[in-house]
Amino acid sequence: MNLLTSTRQSDVAVQPSEAMLSGIAPDGGLYLPKQLPKLSIEKYIDLPYADLVGQILSLFLDEWSTEQLTTLARRAYGAAFANDNCTQYQHFDKLHFCELYHGPTFAFKDFALAILPHLLSASLSKRNSAQRLLILTATSGDTGKAALQGFQDNDNIDIVVFYPNDGVSPIQARQMQTQPGNNLTVLAIEGNFDDAQSNVKKMFTDTAFNDQVLSLGAQLSSANSINIGRLLPQIAYYVDSYRQLCKSGSIDIGEAINFVVPTGNFGNILAAYYAKQMGLPIDKLICASNCNDVLTEFINTGSYNAKRAFYTTMSPSMDILISSNLERLLYHLAGDDSAYVASLMQQLATEKRFVVNATITAGLADFKAYACAEDDTKKAIKAVFDNYRYLIDPHTAVAYHCYQQYQAESGDSQHGVIMATASPFKFPTSVCQSLGCLDDKQDDYQLIDRLATLAELPAPPYFKTLRELPLLHEKVIKTEQMPTAVIDYLRSRS
Ligand SMILES: *Cc1c(COP(=O)(O)O)cnc(C)c1O
Repeated sequence: MNLLTSTRQSDVAVQPSEAMLSGIAPDGGLYLPKQLPKLSIEKYIDLPYADLVGQILSLFLDEWSTEQLTTLARRAYGAAFANDNCTQYQHFDKLHFCELYHGPTFAFKDFALAILPHLLSASLSKRNSAQRLLILTATSGDTGKAALQGFQDNDNIDIVVFYPNDGVSPIQARQMQTQPGNNLTVLAIEGNFDDAQSNVKKMFTDTAFNDQVLSLGAQLSSANSINIGRLLPQIAYYVDSYRQLCKSGSIDIGEAINFVVPTGNFGNILAAYYAKQMGLPIDKLICASNCNDVLTEFINTGSYNAKRAFYTTMSPSMDILISSNLERLLYHLAGDDSAYVASLMQQLATEKRFVVNATITAGLADFKAYACAEDDTKKAIKAVFDNYRYLIDPHTAVAYHCYQQYQAESGDSQHGVIMATASPFKFPTSVCQSLGCLDDKQDDYQLIDRLATLAELPAPPYFKTLRELPLLHEKVIKTEQMPTAVIDYLRSRS
């Protein structure tokens, strides 16, 4: 039996279904596997994408059969994704882009949030739960829409999404404000993403609040990347990238490659770390940050310091100072020393900083970390377009710039895969500005057409439709009002 433990209390052992339903452990820690299973690339090389996900999940979630998990994955990764393999690749010699944005909301978060609702529904039936589930989500932009889409009209699960009013792009805001569905609501808050996230976390650990929610027939859960059910499916696209390079003849099976990951909450790159621990031949994991470079400093020095200026950037999904999933990495690198992890998290809560011991610093050697200033993000978008006639979004551009820094510093000439986490069409103003073709008189939707013409690509019809949809959620609240808003929503449902 593959039970999960808590980062803050390693004698905890729960079934994955329980961990997924509660999202966060009662001690405030994150659920995770103590040991990572081994994968076998040969076995996966020709599987359809959904079946690959089924295989990988089955290594962790043994409450279900591989067939059951594959069925869930096929439902999740079916028609909603633009092509059969879900991912798409661009190859430029030894530089590869893994496009993770061909899902229903044009963001890589679809890979986790398309399947999470299925896993949660399966967990509810596994545990014979009579409670409804209420998902609370804080979003820096993409999670919110991908979650809303994934949970829309689910029979036993409701969802409330909070996003920072000034911290998401106009298109991201519109995607959320136009979300239909009878089981959901969306609220903008006055504050940044960390304010949204820390207040959501508070609601999860507030016993009185949880009791009030229970008395209204619901149980709280999370769709943020603190939920283990979101993290595990993400391992699959690292395996997929690797097998694509094998199949295209770029590498031989067993040859090591690098991955470059635009990082915010550390979920995506943690999935890459898991893939490496599971035996995928990965050399360096390159953690790319924008000017909110708290992780760069941490990986390079062992000192995590969230007491710093917060910048709103053109890569908003990475505007994060408290990177939740790092806690899981700390647990693994500390050799399961949960008391030590708990003490670090305590320091982070009270002093906004911590410094790790030599064991953890040594374990960080698998990672390289770089940061990218706003100006360099723009230059990267332009350089990639000029060199390859290829459009990338600002998050992907941060990763590209960081990889350039890494290569210049190390002279490493192995194959490298950059995770392209968002469609360039989601950030038309920033992309046009970077390419020197911004016209102030044009709105985002006209700019999308302009970019499409420039890159000789069809403009995705999705965005045209988005513009015409009615706004359904326009409320802006203060952070203190978040718990009341949740209760009001639940009352309106019963
Ligand atoms: C969420 C997001 C990221 C950051 O991913 P994490 O898993 O939070 O590190 C990067 N790019 C885009 C476009 C995102 O939506």
